[in-house]
Parts: sequence; structure tokens; C-alpha cells
Amino acid sequence: NMTLDVIIIGGGPIGMAAGIEAQKKGLNYLIIEKGCLVNSLFNYPANMTFFSTSEKLEIGGVPFISHNPRPTRREALEYYRRVQTKWNLNIHLFEEVNEVQKLGPEQFEVKTNKVEYFSKNIIVATGFYGLPNLMNIEGEDLPKVKHYYDDPHLYSFQKIVVVGAANSAIDAALETYRKGAEVTLVIREEEISQRVKYWVRPDIINRIKEGSIKAYFNSSLNSISEQNVIIETPEGSFEIENDFVLAMTGYKPDFSLLEKMGIILAEDELMTPSYNEDTHETNVEGIYLAGVICGGMQTNTWFIENSRVHAEIIIEEISRKVQ
Ligand code: FAD
Repeated sequence: NMTLDVIIIGGGPIGMAAGIEAQKKGLNYLIIEKGCLVNSLFNYPANMTFFSTSEKLEIGGVPFISHNPRPTRREALEYYRRVQTKWNLNIHLFEEVNEVQKLGPEQFEVKTNKVEYFSKNIIVATGFYGLPNLMNIEGEDLPKVKHYYDDPHLYSFQKIVVVGAANSAIDAALETYRKGAEVTLVIREEEISQRVKYWVRPDIINRIKEGSIKAYFNSSLNSISEQNVIIETPEGSFEIENDFVLAMTGYKPDFSLLEKMGIILAEDELMTPSYNEDTHETNVEGIYLAGVICGGMQTNTWFIENSRVHAEIIIEEISRKVQ
């Protein structure tokens, strides 16, 4: 059983970028991805548009041509497939890493749901789209409550509640409204998030102003039942009829894998993993963090645009060690 130079956990854009850098340096590497290629992007809403322009999503020097400045999910899937055909990365799809154990210096054992591997180094690029932030309220486990939004058609001519005020919530509210849903927004904050795409924000504000979409600010969902929801507002709580709840309350990284590896997480609510900002090496020598996972619960600190460079930094460091 030969020992690889590096195993990359996660086949998202940043895991792929790390694979490309490793390949350029002639390292013996393997990318392990639990789902399909760029699994997170695959699970984004069907009609989603990126906030980044296409050239900012490029990896491996492959040009990303899109019809509009900001590409769609479909175009991004096409693009990352094209990157894979160009680079022919060593990647195992539909294989999940369950455990990483340090056996000694430059010696890790990686157990997946299929087999085990040995590697001198590990790059964790597992992203954050795997686990939703729960509201922890009664009825949240009903099938009518969705934490992932896909296609608006499902909600046409239905009474829906959208929880949240950031991009995912606002995109879902506007899209379902335009496909004939009766939309009520329930927003914890006092306004639509300033992070909402600048060309979308006026649209939602005007729909609320004209009354096409109802919005309750400084409010939260209290409970959900088959036919109703209870909303808590500053003016008191009341019940409305409801067919579906879209809980667009954000997502968080799966910290359990990091913790099992021995990576220290900050004890505050941000749970920022401990790593050296120059090298991206964690407190466990030989384990590196790349991509959005570096931010812990702050899942908007790092994105594709600004974390592509992690791949170069880490592979530079690893190739210096193994040569
Ligand atoms: P991911 O793309 O999440 O990849 C992580 C991969 O690891 C996943 O494929 C996952 O299946 C896999 N994985 C997890 N655990 C395991 C395991 N145990 N074993 C094996 N594989 C595992 N960013 C931008 O730059 N521009 C944008 O316009 C933009 N728009 C966005 C829109 C939406 C709706 C969302 C949700 C995010 C958006 N982002 C955008 C953020 C961007 O998608 C993420 O920052 C980006 O995906 C991070 O890449 P990554 O490779 O770090 O993580």
C-alpha cells in the first residue's frame, strides 16, 4: 500500500485547484469527493446566478466563457467539467472520507466508506454546504420544510414562508413570487441584508413596498404545523396558513471531521479552525485547510474568488517538504 504525497478531501473548486497545483509539481496526489464533481454547486438552486464574474471563478488557466458577465449554475457545472477533462485530475467521486488518523510524522491513514489510503499530507477542502443552520423549532422536521431551495415550480400557487434576509432567501422569495407563489418573508433583522447582490436588493425592497411580497422584520418563526405557521413579531405573534417553509438560514461546515483529526476550533461561536495564515497548515502538522472551511462559521469570509490562491500556497509548502 503506497504512501501518497497528499490527499485532498473535497472535490469543490478549491479542492480541484489544489489537485491542479499538485499535478503541476509532479506530486503523487488524490482528490476524494463524497458526491459528484463540484457537489456543492450541483446542489445550488437550479436557476442560480453567481455574484462573481466568470473570470474570477477560473482555475487551472482554463478560460470560463459565459453568456453574461455573471455565470449561471449550469454554466459553472459545464466549466468545472471542462476543467476536469483538460487536467484529467486523479479524483475519486462518490467516496466519503470518514476518518483521518496521524500515525507518525508524514504518515496519515485516511479511511473512506470504501477503502483506506496512506498519505504524507492532507488538505481539507470540505466547504460548508453540507449542513443547514437549524431554527430548532417545533415542526422543522416536517417534509414541507426545506433547507435547500431548488426549482420554483414546486411552490407555484402555494402559500410559502421564506425565512432569512440574505442572498439565498431573497433569490428564493423573488423567484417563487414570479412563478405564482404567495410569499411571506420572515426576517430576524430589521432590514434586507446589505450583502444581497446590489442589483437584486432594490427589486425585493420595491416588491415589499408595493405589497406583492409580505415581510415581517425583527421577527421569527415560532412553530410549524401541517397547515399553518406561527410568526412572532414585535406586535405579537399570530398564525397564518402555510403550505411550504423555505428556511434559508444559511449553512455550516461539518466540524466533526476536523475535530476527529485533532484540529483545534476557536471556542467562540465562530469556531474558526486554528491554522497558520502564511502556510494554511493547522495545529496538526501535515494537515492543511483550503477554501471556505478556513472561515469556520463565517462562511462568507472565503469564497471561490478569494480562496483559489490557497491551493498554490499549500502545494508550494508541501512540495518544498517532500522534495
Ligand atoms: P465546496 O465547493 O463546498 O466543496 C467542498 C466539497 O467537499 C463538496 O463537493 C463536498 O461534497 C465535499 N466533501 C465534504 N465533506 C467531505 C468528506 N468527508 N469526504 C469527501 N468529500 C467531502 N462564491 C464565489 O466566489 N462567487 C459566487 O458568486 C458564489 N455564489 C454562491 C451562491 C450560493 C447559493 C452559495 C451557497 C455559495 C456561493 N459562493 C460563491 C460560495 C462558494 O460556492 C463557495 O465559497 C465555494 O463552493 C467554496 O469552494 P470549496 O471548494 O472551498 O468548497
